[in-house]
Formats: sequence, structure tokens, C-alpha cells
Amino acid sequence: MVFNIQENERKIFYLIGETAQELGFPAYVVGGYVRDRLLARPSKDIDIVCVGSGIQLAQNVAAKLRPIPRIAIYKRFGTAMIKHKSLEIEFVGARKESYRYDSRKPSVEEGTLEDDQNRRDFTINALAVSLNDEDYGYILDPFGGLQHLEQKLIKTPLEPDKTFIDDPLRMMRAIRFSTQLDFIIDPETFHAIKLNKNRINIVSQERIITELNKIISAPKPSIGFKLLFQSGLLQIIFPELVAMQGVDVKNGRAHKDNFYHTLQVLDNISKKTNDLWLRWSALLHDIGKPITKRWDDEQGWTFHGHEAVGANMVPRIFRRMRLPMDHKMKFVQKMVQLHQRPISLTKDNITDSAIRRLVFEAGEDIDLLMQLCEADITSKNPKKVTRYLENYEMVRGRISEVEEKDRLRNWQPPVSGELIMETFNISPSKEVGIIKTAIREAILDGDIPNEYEAAYQFMLQKGKELGLVKVDV
Ligand code: ATP
Repeated sequence: MVFNIQENERKIFYLIGETAQELGFPAYVVGGYVRDRLLARPSKDIDIVCVGSGIQLAQNVAAKLRPIPRIAIYKRFGTAMIKHKSLEIEFVGARKESYRYDSRKPSVEEGTLEDDQNRRDFTINALAVSLNDEDYGYILDPFGGLQHLEQKLIKTPLEPDKTFIDDPLRMMRAIRFSTQLDFIIDPETFHAIKLNKNRINIVSQERIITELNKIISAPKPSIGFKLLFQSGLLQIIFPELVAMQGVDVKNGRAHKDNFYHTLQVLDNISKKTNDLWLRWSALLHDIGKPITKRWDDEQGWTFHGHEAVGANMVPRIFRRMRLPMDHKMKFVQKMVQLHQRPISLTKDNITDSAIRRLVFEAGEDIDLLMQLCEADITSKNPKKVTRYLENYEMVRGRISEVEEKDRLRNWQPPVSGELIMETFNISPSKEVGIIKTAIREAILDGDIPNEYEAAYQFMLQKGKELGLVKVDV
């Protein structure tokens, strides 16, 4: 295994080692940085542990750098952070932690490097590299982390039960690392996750969602969701997803397992985009299915209206999960609401008006919606896949045609409410709304073109019908 580092990192490590020596205590690079460098993965955060004052070490290192960087000092935690070029370097004194059963908050005291390695979550995260004269560059690996990196194994350094009882978030972290790195979780470690799953309830939602978002952002998120499901954690943190699992059979007719279908859609979209919110849209696109599932003697299993029910569930899920309630939630909600629409446009005899309405409703997100629909194709039959993709290609073609004609993305009505009020000398009222809606509908139906003059004439006609009179200015 090779420890590949860049020149600017080499220089800073040397400087930290030298400065620690001047202060009379040893310093080490630890944790995620060491793991990622050994795996040749990118990593910008460097953690330095010293057996002394981390703040003092950071201050003395900063004084030697040019330009002198700003130091962020967190006295309460005994840590300090400096940003140097593209690197973020955090300094901390080695700690020993002990936990009580009913609390996540450990009591922390000064400790040795070994104590510090003992409190780490996984063997591959407990590696330390010496920055000290006598053994500069030597890797201290008390728990076989190097071998586990080779074996692609996630394993706790100490007894797994204790590790997870001390901080139950580590259960999510095990699954997150397994997903990101495509590593296996050691069976004993995984067994302990199953046993301790309920303790996830004492972890804050903010910490949970950070890990869940990292799972969703991984190259193949389904790995993590399957592990969350098998461990029983998903049932606690995301029951709506679990409700999609399973297949009902009636009169020999079965529907697909919507949980595994969803995971396939999520993996599909993850091959095309890193956009977290588009990935969330894939995860939630069918979330309304369990509630809307019905049996119909002729049609078999149906999920009528699942997109509207699903869209309704999105804000509730986002709020509970402490996800942002802003335009990102609105985006996911819109994707869930509209995900069936392009399918309905693949039939014959689709009017321009139907296409125009979709473009109007999806706005600038129409391309992302089409991406979601393409990811939603999970048939195992390659002929069907080709046919569905061709159908969507046709819909894309129609969309660009209609768009070219009508320029409907980010649509602004060609006649404003102010103009309506001015023209008929009326104040804000029901009539203004009626006329505005009538103009929009006429444009979407293709009765009038999306142009000022046509809309203006239409407004005059609508006003007349409502008994309004045009005033001359
Ligand atoms: P990433 O940078 O991909 O988010 P990471 O684990 O490398 O993941 P941090 O989450 O910042 O980065 O953690 C840095 C190090 O701190 C880890 O490598 C691990 O040694 C330790 N660590 C972090 N969280 C915990 C925890 N909950 N329990 C024990 N050790 C932890």
C-alpha cells in the first residue's frame, strides 16, 4: 500500500513535526486523511493529534506559514483549525473518552496517542502517521487497519457492542463507509449494529441526515440502503421507504417490489448526476405508492394518484429529516408530482397543448425531470428498455419543438396584472385574476401565441365579456 502525498502536504507535515518537537511533544496525522491517502482517494481535511496542546501547536505552526493564516480556535473542544492553500488542518490534543450508557456525551480527558486511537470508530480510521524525528512517516496501526484496507473491511477497533453503545451514530457511519468505499462490514460488527439499532434514537437528526446524505451521494447508494434495511435501522429512521418493500399477489397477479425498484432508480440516476436533490427525487418518486395501492378485478394492482400523494408527503419527510425546507424541497416535490407525466406523453396523438403544459409546469427543471423518467426504467427486458428510451427521446424532441415556438421555460405572462388594471382602470380584484388565468390557459391551449399583441387583444376581449370598459389614457 502506498502513501501518496502532494508536495504542499509534505512541506506542511515537516513543519508541524518540527514545531511539535520545539514544543517538546509528539504529533501525528490521523484518521480519514491517512485512510484516504492510502486508498488514493481525494481528501482535503487533515487531522493532527498531538500529545500536548493542539491550540498551541496550531498557533506556532501558523506563525511560520506565509501568508500567516487565520486560526479558528474552539477553546471548549481544545481544537484549532487553520486553512493553508487548499488544505484545512485541524489540531487537537490526544484524548481519552469514556461514556455513560444513557448519554452520547462522553467525558473527555487528556490521553496518550493510544487512548486517542482507541476512541476512533473503525480500524481503518484509527491509523496514525508519525511526524516525529525518531520515526517520521511510520504508520502506527494498533488494530490491523492496514490489513483491513487491503481486505476492504469495516471493523470496530474495540468490542463492537461497546463502540456502538458509546456513540450509536457509528452504526450509520459503518454503513456510510461501506457504501462510499464498497467495503464489507465485518459480520460481528454488523451483528452488533442489529442488536443496538434502537439506540439510533438518541442521536440527533442533524447527525443522522449528514450520514444519510453521504450514502445518497455515493457512487452506488443502494448498497447503503440495503444495509440500513437489513440492520433494521431504516425501519427506525425512514419508515416510509420500508413501507414500499414487499410484493402482494392476488389471483396470480403481483406488483413489483417498489423498495428495490426505487433503489435501482436511485442507482441509475446516480450514474448520470451528482445532484443530491435529483437523487432525493429518485428516492422519493414512488413514496406515495403504499398509501394508494388498490386491487381492481380488471386492472390488477393500481397506484392511482401516487404522485400527488407522494408530493404531499415530501414536506413532512423533509421537515422531520431536518432537510432544507426551501427551493430544494420544492424541487423534489415538483419532481415527485410530475414524474408520471412524460410517460403519458409517449402515447399517440399527443397534442402540442399537453406538451406545452408540462413544459410550463416543470419550467427550467424539465431536463432533470426527463432524466428522472429515464432512470425510472428498470425493466430487465432490453427490448422494452430500448423502446421506452426511444419514446422519451421522442418526447424530448416534441418538447424542444414546442419550446422553440413558444419559449415557455421561466414563463412570464406577456400581459401583466398592472397592465390589466391600467387598461380597465380597476383596482386589484377578482377580475384581474380571471383575465390573467384566461390568458395563460389560452396560450397553453395554443388558442393564441405566446406574444404580447395577441395576449393584449385577448385581454380586451375577456374584459369586454366581464363588462369592463377600456379607458383611453
Ligand atoms: P469524511 O471526511 O468522509 O466525512 P471522515 O471519517 O474521514 O469522513 P470525519 O467525520 O471528519 O471524517 O472524522 C475524522 C476522523 O475522526 C475519522 O476518521 C475517525 O477517526 C474519527 N471519528 C469521526 N467521527 C467519529 C465517531 N462518531 N466515533 C469515533 N470516531 C470518529
